Amino acid sequence: MKKWQCMVCGYIHEGEEPPDECPVCGADKSEFVEITEEATEESPAEETAPAADTPGEAVPEAASATAASTATVGDDIPIQEEATPEPTPMVSKRMAYYDRITALMTEQHAHPISTHIPNGVLPISVIFLIMSILLHFDELGRAAFFNMVVVFLATPFVIFSGYNDWQRRLGGHMTTIIRTKMICAGIILVLSFIVVVWWAIDPTVATAASPNRWLFLFLNLVLLATAVVAGYFGGKLVFGYNTPPKQ
Ligand code: FE
Repeated sequence: MKKWQCMVCGYIHEGEEPPDECPVCGADKSEFVEITEEATEESPAEETAPAADTPGEAVPEAASATAASTATVGDDIPIQEEATPEPTPMVSKRMAYYDRITALMTEQHAHPISTHIPNGVLPISVIFLIMSILLHFDELGRAAFFNMVVVFLATPFVIFSGYNDWQRRLGGHMTTIIRTKMICAGIILVLSFIVVVWWAIDPTVATAASPNRWLFLFLNLVLLATAVVAGYFGGKLVFGYNTPPKQ
């Protein structure tokens, strides 16, 4: 039985042919390369990652092809080596500093860490809001607001660290899962901003007395549902390749 590895997410498929589409990240057939035992022995994993790249650019075809021919068996998502561009007077220290920081962010899992902060706080915010409206407990509406401020403030960092991981781990390849996560992130940022600003203008909106409370609650529920969808696809992207779909 042949083995094929998705060069975008690392998913391994067993069969005579690669799948038409990666079940984990949605990359198409051309992103799969056959894994051979010889390649595994000859080339350590570190050397097989797609070539280092400037953030914002996709992995060049040639680089992908080189990495493809020397793919190895393993569960780890291939991590691109840190970019080491030739320093120019204009780019100078600032770019090198940016590069070091963003490489460290990926190495130390800044994205999953930062994602769990708003994801942990958001359900609490919505639960407090529901309790405020249903139980006429106004102070919980206030607590919901402060929790939502944390969600709003954390989201830009979540988006940036996610973008950085996408560039460094997945070579900036656009797939259905990545597109979905980006849309979800945009919705979360916009809705959390609306919720926070709305409450700041009219704090009674989070109480049982407000005529707008149900619309306000609806926005909060959409926000929560969007975070669930983003989390689902994030989990699929990170863990999905460890559990190949049933034949
Ligand atoms: Fe994939």
